[in-house]
Amino acid sequence: MQFEFATDGRIIFGPGKLRQASTTVKTAGQRPLVITGKNIQRAEPLLKLLAENKLEATIYSVSAEPKIQTIRDGVALAKKESCDWVIGMGGGSVIDTGKAIAAMMTNEGDVLDYVEIIGHGKSLQKRPARCLAIPTTAGTGSEVTRNSVLASPEHRLKVSLRSAMMVPGVALVDPELTYDLPPGITASTGLDALTQLIEPYVCLRANPMTDALCVEGIRRVTSSFRRAFENSTDSKARENMALASLFGGIALSNSGLGAVHGFAGPIGGMFPAPHGEICAALLPHVMEANLRALRERDQKSYAFNRYYYVARLLTGNDHATADAGIDWVRELVSDFKIPRLSAHGIKPEHADEIVKNAMNASSMKANPIALTPDELKEVLVKAL
Ligand SMILES: [Zn+2]
Repeated sequence: MQFEFATDGRIIFGPGKLRQASTTVKTAGQRPLVITGKNIQRAEPLLKLLAENKLEATIYSVSAEPKIQTIRDGVALAKKESCDWVIGMGGGSVIDTGKAIAAMMTNEGDVLDYVEIIGHGKSLQKRPARCLAIPTTAGTGSEVTRNSVLASPEHRLKVSLRSAMMVPGVALVDPELTYDLPPGITASTGLDALTQLIEPYVCLRANPMTDALCVEGIRRVTSSFRRAFENSTDSKARENMALASLFGGIALSNSGLGAVHGFAGPIGGMFPAPHGEICAALLPHVMEANLRALRERDQKSYAFNRYYYVARLLTGNDHATADAGIDWVRELVSDFKIPRLSAHGIKPEHADEIVKNAMNASSMKANPIALTPDELKEVLVKAL
């Protein structure tokens, strides 16, 4: 056995923790660039905290998943306003924007020099500017991952800016910030979290530290996901979903993912579909295809047994079959009214191109068994 494990220097977790973060923000720097989503009001508690501590914030509001140009504009703003550190407060897109801007505030050249596939893929030379990540959804775990996903509309691709140094120095996870999420967002982001717990657990690069996080995270999803969906201010359920998201982020960045995320990258680059909805629509079909392929070709694989354990965690039944776990996920996706992929404009004639790109995605390489192009196409068509 061999593995490496790294995460944020500091993780602060708990309801109300944002209000108590004076020392954290006071010691981080002088002039923060604050990245928010399109509704700046959601960052009000943070802006109040910064004002109380006499820190002058420059606000950069982003309305969608970040593009290469979003990062360039943010870096230019940070330089113009002499910002010396970054706070990303929002969903995964906002935090990814913050992480990428922090990296480009200290490293020379253009962001394209450092991104994979469409850029030069150079390694970051310098440690990014200090970055505080404050998630307001429970799903992506971006507050503890080491990459930023950036869209390049002209290439119809999503690419990563990636470096172990990009893990934010501090993640502040305050479940109270998720109380006002509408049920649709709770559902799609939560299914991303669940995917990010199941995929690292069955993937080829799983290790004992990420296993522990995945098992505990799946347990918390099982007990709390429906409650958080039905009652947005159920504090215990929100706390469990925030933890599940955090654990999923740590797990994926220290082990790997699988076919759901192998598909999600290319699809997200080609169609304007939210990441969580893509993952949610694909998850039961990928689980089904993986289990069938393992049953047919590799019953000795540890992943085969793990699908049974996932089913037991999800259903709470110690005698559940692996298929019962898939049924549990399928029922959840249906009850939460997750739109099918066709709702985002994806049609059967796109399948070959999507499968081709998905086969090259880095997440696909960690899938517990290599799925054939036909198997992948079947997964996609079922999710349409
Ligand atoms: Zn994801």
